[in-house]
Amino acid sequence: MKTCTRCDKERVVPITLDDSMEVCGHTFTANLPAEKCQACGQIAIQGHDLKLFELRIACELAKAGMRTGDSFKYLRKSLGMDAKGLGELLDVPAEFVGYWETGKWPVDPRAHAVLCSFVLGKFEHRPSSLDCLAVLREPRKLARKVRLTLIDALGQAAKTLQFGSAARTAPGLA
Ligand SMILES: [Zn+2]
Repeated sequence: MKTCTRCDKERVVPITLDDSMEVCGHTFTANLPAEKCQACGQIAIQGHDLKLFELRIACELAKAGMRTGDSFKYLRKSLGMDAKGLGELLDVPAEFVGYWETGKWPVDPRAHAVLCSFVLGKFEHRPSSLDCLAVLREPRKLARKVRLTLIDALGQAAKTLQFGSAARTAPGLA
């Protein structure tokens, strides 16, 4: 058994527990893996699992199309991106991101769509939108003759359609 960081007793066991987060006026609950000390009762949740929970919440906000400053900020943070980094990817000054997030300006729908697709892509471990933007900044050489495999692409397209968000379906239909 693992040793407790609080009481030093070797009585830490794996458990799961319901944890809730309040985000943008909604309460999100998920069952998370954790560790509990049977001696002193200390419960520890790994940072990795909390990050996953946050990203999962961000996916729900993205799929709901919640285009508010708070939501935009939450989506950005769930990606671990700062305002400057996101501004560079969207090709806007970092201040724009701040204006959207604080409600000084309404959130730009195109910026919001791109951010949502980053979030959904990261959750699916398929950061295709990020790749597309990075490649625009540093184009790769495309061979004159290119052989393509369609089976995987179609499978992915079907999956993309199921998602139902405009930001994700547009590239699949193109
Ligand atoms: Zn303990």
